[in-house]
Amino acid sequence: MQSGDILINGDWGAPRGGDYIPVMNPSDGTQFDRIARGQAADIDAAVAAARAALDGPWGRMTAAERGRAMQRLGALIMEHVDALTVLEARDVGKPMTQARNDVIACARYMEFYGGAADKVHGDTIPYLDGYTVLTIREPHGVTGHIIPWNYPLQIIGRSIGAALAMGNACVLKPGEDASLTSLYFARLATEAGLPAGALNLVTGYGEEAGAALAAHPGIDHISFTGSPQAGALVQKAAADNIVPVTLELGGKSPQVVFADADFDAALPFVVNASIQNAGQTCSAGSRLLIEDSAYDTFVGRVAERFAALRVGSAEQDLDVGPLINPTQRARVNAYLDRARADGLPILAQGQMAPNAPGDGYYVPPTLIGDVPPDHPLAQEEIFGPVLVVVRFKDEDEAVRIANGTPYGLVGGVWTRDGGRQMRLARKVRTGQVFINNYGAGGGVELPFGGMKRSGYGREKGFEALYGFSVTKTIAIKHD
Ligand code: NAD
Repeated sequence: MQSGDILINGDWGAPRGGDYIPVMNPSDGTQFDRIARGQAADIDAAVAAARAALDGPWGRMTAAERGRAMQRLGALIMEHVDALTVLEARDVGKPMTQARNDVIACARYMEFYGGAADKVHGDTIPYLDGYTVLTIREPHGVTGHIIPWNYPLQIIGRSIGAALAMGNACVLKPGEDASLTSLYFARLATEAGLPAGALNLVTGYGEEAGAALAAHPGIDHISFTGSPQAGALVQKAAADNIVPVTLELGGKSPQVVFADADFDAALPFVVNASIQNAGQTCSAGSRLLIEDSAYDTFVGRVAERFAALRVGSAEQDLDVGPLINPTQRARVNAYLDRARADGLPILAQGQMAPNAPGDGYYVPPTLIGDVPPDHPLAQEEIFGPVLVVVRFKDEDEAVRIANGTPYGLVGGVWTRDGGRQMRLARKVRTGQVFINNYGAGGGVELPFGGMKRSGYGREKGFEALYGFSVTKTIAIKHD
């Protein structure tokens, strides 16, 4: 395998068009590698290879054998944890500790889904006299996976992991801004014993390789993780082929803190959930909803933490790294300009580390107070290290504001009142609700996905195995 190769049917090679995309280091703005600029012809070949794999050794492997190969892959990922960490950190700009967590999570997905591969089974259904009816779970067939740049290894783990466990043959198109660990993962997958064609990987731009994959008539299911705008295009393309889609889209997730909450416990979660991966996290807790009477006490403490945050390169491994590219930095800065123009109080900002490289794509983590709930900063996904604070006066208003955006991915609720915990858990319209915690340590086992414009379908956990398979009902009349 050489720099810029793609993987089709077990073979690494150059993209058919011979074009490449430079790979930039967000920490210092320099180019350090290249990836293939895959096109429709590469996608055609990848889909054909996946189809052939279903009729070949991959399709004939038992569920237990598939699971074993995946668990070997998990073990290999852990053997390569240092190299993968350095690569992910450099490619995404993620502080090393966070990158390492992503590598470990990816290995854990292989362990979890490898272990689950032979534990998904159907039912027998009581039916008419003289019949036996049973259901079996079959793979969709060829599954397409379009993923973003922000958590490549974690999203590969949950999406490719569940699809492979159910026996699908996959075509993966990673984000053009961070594809290197996807390529590394695919190399390890071959080493772990995944047969040719079970996993094919074409890098490239969304409008080219991504669009070709979404619209391909040879795909049986498509899993898309990214922005609502591109997700809608993918859904339209899949509709023409009547292909099921899972959409994991953006978020504007609330952390709702009541005056009776344990502030010491809430504080690190509230800060971390908004700045992890420089805020470029779909499930970032990017809105702090705070009960009026606790505003000064709690927000004051959040401000102290924000002021102490340090920003630097991935290798410096501080609290916050750079954003992924200059466009993303400009987008986040535009939101900060808007806050200033509208007179919203900037309560605190983190500081650049003195020896951080000059040309990286940095934005200081910023806490903005008293944001009206309908202001664009409280409504739109900023995808940067910006936490906006919104006041509420009582429980009803908290629920209204929490649900008052187009998104519905994750919600956090902080209160000691047991009844209120349950009421909010039921009323907050998000795919996951965390009570007195947030993110639950990654939660490989926990179904994850959105409501409203955050998408639909569930990845992670056992439930994803159902999403990556179809139920077939077999009715046998025997007398
Ligand atoms: P994006 O939509 O621009 O890109 C995501 C992927 O889609 C990339 O691989 C890209 O090449 C591809 N793509 C772009 N246009 C396409 C098209 N027309 N057809 C097919 N593929 C296309 O998103 P991004 O900027 O890379 O990622 C940020 C977004 O992803 C945010 O909105 C974030 O919230 C969301 N996200 C969601 C989750 C989740 O699980 N819900 C996880 C991570 C990121």
